[in-house]
Amino acid sequence: MRQRIRIPKSLKWIWLMILHAVFIAGIVFLFHSKWHLFRPVSELPPGYKPQLVRLALHSLETRDVPVASLLIYRGEIIGRGYNTVVRNRRAGEHAEINAISDALDSLGFRQFQTLDRDSLWLITTFEPCMMCAAALVIYNIQKVYFIKEKPISDNLRQDARLLRHFWKREALQPAALQDSLFYLHPDYPEHLKKPKTP
Ligand SMILES: [Zn+2]
Repeated sequence: MRQRIRIPKSLKWIWLMILHAVFIAGIVFLFHSKWHLFRPVSELPPGYKPQLVRLALHSLETRDVPVASLLIYRGEIIGRGYNTVVRNRRAGEHAEINAISDALDSLGFRQFQTLDRDSLWLITTFEPCMMCAAALVIYNIQKVYFIKEKPISDNLRQDARLLRHFWKREALQPAALQDSLFYLHPDYPEHLKKPKTP
């Protein structure tokens, strides 16, 4: 007679939690790096190709990775960017961020913030890295087109590093130090300032 193996209840819970974590990680990964595979592929409008190539070639002059980006508003180019990390020794000067900076430079920060986000989009030759994706989120640039996607190994490495970042970061006291700096800003709302302790 065969005996049924009884799995302890605690082990069942652990299994359920592992399955849950794998499921959530899969969803996060899908959205982070592969969701575009479920969308139709558009052709690069022919007018943008020479501009992108010309910009990317500038990167090569200083052995920067040849990536170029254009920021478009209502069909008009308002920002151009190419990789200048090596050229200028600036950590954040990827093509996408440079295109945003170029638009901020020509329009001014306040006017840039008022642009209709439904008519603002970025086109880039290489899938944005995590830093550039974060810049696009922060500046509320919602529509992005990229020509070449990143290898899956790059995305996995970035995901792992992001998790490690959240795992390793620690808070420092006193938190009020930053508040006191915020209060110095002329646009900081008065009603949000906490009363000073006597
Ligand atoms: Zn980047």
